[in-house]
Amino acid sequence: MNYFDESPKEECGVIGIFAPNEDVARMTFFGLYALQHRGQEAAGMAVADGQVITMHKGVGLVSQVFTPNVMTDLKGHYAIGHTRYSTTGSSLLRNAQPFMIETMHGPLALAHNGNLINSAELRNELMEQGVGFSSTSDTEVMTMMLARNGGATWEERIKTAMAKWIGAYSLVILTRDCVYAVRDPWGFRPLCIGLLPSGGHAVASETGALQTLGCEAIRDVKPGEVVSLSNSALKVMQALPTVKPSAMCVFEHIYFARPDQTWDGINVHHVRQRLGEELAREVVNGWEADKRMEVVDGETEKRIADGFADVVIPVPDSSVPAAIGFSHVSGIPYNDGFIKNRYVGRTFIEPTDSLRKRGVALKFNVINENVRGKRVVMIDDSIVRGNTTGPLIKLLKNAGAKEVHVAITCPPIAHPCFMGVDMGKYEDLIAHKRTVDEIREFVGADSLYYLSVDGMMKALQRKDGFCQACFTGQYPIPVDAKSAKTGFERATK
Ligand code: SF4
Repeated sequence: MNYFDESPKEECGVIGIFAPNEDVARMTFFGLYALQHRGQEAAGMAVADGQVITMHKGVGLVSQVFTPNVMTDLKGHYAIGHTRYSTTGSSLLRNAQPFMIETMHGPLALAHNGNLINSAELRNELMEQGVGFSSTSDTEVMTMMLARNGGATWEERIKTAMAKWIGAYSLVILTRDCVYAVRDPWGFRPLCIGLLPSGGHAVASETGALQTLGCEAIRDVKPGEVVSLSNSALKVMQALPTVKPSAMCVFEHIYFARPDQTWDGINVHHVRQRLGEELAREVVNGWEADKRMEVVDGETEKRIADGFADVVIPVPDSSVPAAIGFSHVSGIPYNDGFIKNRYVGRTFIEPTDSLRKRGVALKFNVINENVRGKRVVMIDDSIVRGNTTGPLIKLLKNAGAKEVHVAITCPPIAHPCFMGVDMGKYEDLIAHKRTVDEIREFVGADSLYYLSVDGMMKALQRKDGFCQACFTGQYPIPVDAKSAKTGFERATK
């Protein structure tokens, strides 16, 4: 459990590998290791040898779930793997992935990143037909649908199921002798494919995992595609037409993905740096304009000449590139202000009450010498519930910062996500309930700035093609706002 972090949570990372003449389980392990940031609560892997599928999954980090003993049992040339985030600890193992079942067409395993918004209806339909479930996961619904669908081949069965699935899904599917990579027609979640040095192929949520495996010639699985990995040549089927414009999750760029991820030709680190640059333009120009509107006297001119602040610091790690960009454009020097303990949020041991009261202080220490007596601009990637920004400001002020200005590299998050990101419900989101100035007051910042939607799109260097619904409320797929509750509690997923 992560007691110290209110950041939005990605639901999963997935990987699939076909690698003849290689220890595919070991490769999948290292691929999952590179996807660990997309989910730290559970991990799983299924491996096929042409006849049977062997699977292991468990609660914990990849390195805790896959011990040397476990790895020796996972033999074959085809594999899929999964790292998982979930919201409660009550049924972590029951909902860990992959899901595996025996079907009349042979064994089948499936791992999923995303969220089907019509999973409740599909589940009810199946239950009326007598199908039982062992979990509340939409991934199990998808697995059962594939097992029951008619069709001569798995490609046909997958295509039939895709026509009924509404929502976000980047899937890896394993049969006894093939790995399939499947992406929804909106393209919400990433899934990329690469050529292994041995001649096989791998697919993964992020290009960084493919690079870890030594892949070349990396491309995205296109929205609506089913790609089969079972011999040296890829087999590609456009199962559903791509929805235009696509709806790639902009939050992958803002927060989730590792900076070495390149998605649809756009590198995440570069986007984050440009988000900081755009934010600096908006903040400093706005600030100077405000000052000029004041009566111009000697004092106002001096305040403009003195600049906006003395130092720019990031909330590590995801805001580091943005703070560099902010510093570059604003001319305000960059420095480290927080040191993050990368391991504190990755424990199942609950802190004592007295430690819990220390809140973010358990996760972050301040380099006092870098902020003492200074006007600080703190760059962060988002404010969701508003629980951590205030304590971070307090840490800086306790360390002697004279002023703390907060600049956020995205617009206010005022709407929940229905496509697989856990941000909470409407009532949890501070920007749904309060104005920017009320949020500033709540967190105790001297000033608070958010990047505009326009500024965000400038940083992406695209006019469209991204889902921005958590900022704008304009969902790429019509959603029932009431389903936000079930969509996000996901207590048993
Ligand atoms: S609503 Fe936000 S988090 Fe969800 S898919 Fe769209 S951009 Fe991503």
